[in-house]
Amino acid sequence: MFVINTIAELTKTVDKVKAQGKTVGLVPTMGALHEGHLSLIKRARKENDVVFVSIFVNPVQFNNQDDLRKYPRTLDRDVEFIGDYADYAFAPSVEEIFPVQPSEKYDFGPVEKVMEGAARPGHFNGVGIIVRRLLEWTRPDKAYFGEKDYQQIAVIRELVLQCNIQSEIVPCPIVREPNGLAMSSRNRRLTPEQFEKAANIHRILEESRKCVDVPQMKAFVEAEIAKIPEFQLDYFEIADDKTLQTVHALADADGVMGFVTVYVGEVRLIDNIRYK
Ligand code: AMP
Repeated sequence: MFVINTIAELTKTVDKVKAQGKTVGLVPTMGALHEGHLSLIKRARKENDVVFVSIFVNPVQFNNQDDLRKYPRTLDRDVEFIGDYADYAFAPSVEEIFPVQPSEKYDFGPVEKVMEGAARPGHFNGVGIIVRRLLEWTRPDKAYFGEKDYQQIAVIRELVLQCNIQSEIVPCPIVREPNGLAMSSRNRRLTPEQFEKAANIHRILEESRKCVDVPQMKAFVEAEIAKIPEFQLDYFEIADDKTLQTVHALADADGVMGFVTVYVGEVRLIDNIRYK
């Protein structure tokens, strides 16, 4: 695998690959790679001739500067971890991507107004800014995103519609630790005790399936999260899987999912579950 640091080199490489008639897959990441990321990369490898992985901790999608400062950065290890599953890693500096502060303002409509959009002002605008640039520079046939960040996929689908981007957006299932915890780069910031405790998030979501309808599910998850010391619930929402708007009964939508965000100590973790 080759590491590319500049936009000029990236676009030149993409031009060369495209001129050879090869298909391109893109996996955008913020690094500190784990098996969840690797599942996206392996899928991209299967479905495309050439795979690009971007590794960039995007400052403009962080609404919390402390979170940005503490975000794990492990580039050398990441490059080794990807090995030959990808052809190119694009790992630019912040100055390369943002020589000036970006000023684009997107409106992704209702899907960005709820949950992560409401809890993290500016977050999805920052995601839109970087993902649009990556898609335009790399022009992938397919771009891969994890369902752990389910709402992000909805926002990106809206972005590609609004910007006439031709890439296919491919959602990929959540990869979990053996204890059930959704893999996340932020898990590295958990103590071993917190890591074990964090497995309760998935357990509680799974157990909530036994509730007969939405109000009970909501009450159950909120009460169970509250029982665990060091857990602080940010939100738990039960929503339509397409519009992401709250539902009040399982019958209200064809697809219904639960979305949870919990602070474990000071680390903010997200997860979701499909009910229907
Ligand atoms: P991140 O580096 O956290 O921005 O994630 C990069 C991509 O990997 C995003 O599309 C995430 O949704 C995806 N991803 C992160 N964790 C997981 C996981 N546990 N399972 C599947 N995909 C994941």
